[in-house]
Amino acid sequence: MKLTYLGTGAAEGIPALFCNCFLCKKAKELGGKNIRSRSQTLVNDDLLIDFGPDVFWHVCRYGLDLAKIRTLLITHAHEDHYTPSELCYRKKPFSYLSGDKEADNYDFPTLDIYLSQGSFDYEGVRFLHRQELADGKAPMTYHIVRAFEPFQTGRYTVTPLTANHAPGFEALIYIISDGLSSLLYGHDTGLFPEETLDYLSREKPHLDFVSLDCTGMASGHNTGGGRHMNLERNIKTREALDSFGCTDETTVWCCNHFSHNGKSTHEELVEIMAKENFLVAYDGMTAEF
Ligand SMILES: [Zn+2]
Ligand SMILES: [Zn+2]
Ligand SMILES: [Zn+2]
Repeated sequence: MKLTYLGTGAAEGIPALFCNCFLCKKAKELGGKNIRSRSQTLVNDDLLIDFGPDVFWHVCRYGLDLAKIRTLLITHAHEDHYTPSELCYRKKPFSYLSGDKEADNYDFPTLDIYLSQGSFDYEGVRFLHRQELADGKAPMTYHIVRAFEPFQTGRYTVTPLTANHAPGFEALIYIISDGLSSLLYGHDTGLFPEETLDYLSREKPHLDFVSLDCTGMASGHNTGGGRHMNLERNIKTREALDSFGCTDETTVWCCNHFSHNGKSTHEELVEIMAKENFLVAYDGMTAEF
């Protein structure tokens, strides 16, 4: 499985839009891995996780071909993870499947979108549903998924788990497996809720790569009142998963979803996290496992 982090910032991004804190100023000076766009991740070239406000930038920066995406998993309907109005451009005359628009039959294959009932009920999604899906213009199918009920999408088996985040949206984290390897995509979330820990201890899925929320970064700062994690909570989560037998010395651990409130540059983070054997995600980082 190949994973590409397209955006690794928290809701406000780094540099945050209106911010003049020292970290945001430094990020503008240094550029490179210190620039963090809003959360989005690509698995191989056909499964996308989240569809936030920086999707246009991700297409430009990485030369992404979004027409290849067959599956879209939504973690939750916070705007930094889901901006459903952008999906309205997946039809003519906004997009054509081939270079020759006259010859094109315009028919995009169906995009399967998976999300919780809470995220589906969010006003923006309902608006899209009314305007676009009701008249059959948008080739998209929404699937409501429930935590702990695995489903098949293309070559992937996906298991949604309950996140400790945005209870109004029924936020989800996902285990994604292609039969060869498995990824746990663990954000946005605080320390995993009891029912998720129970499921993992019972089912013991083997995880090759674990990507965890580290909004609070290396310090105890800004952990979102328990609805996000920091390095300390990442370590606690690893201890729990190791004890269940889900993870072992072959598992790769990576922190993601960083906020300027963590007050650390990318290089500083790498130095801190390396001591605890965590990778630090950055926009454009890839991993194969
Ligand atoms: Zn977020
Ligand atoms: Zn700032
Ligand atoms: Zn969120």
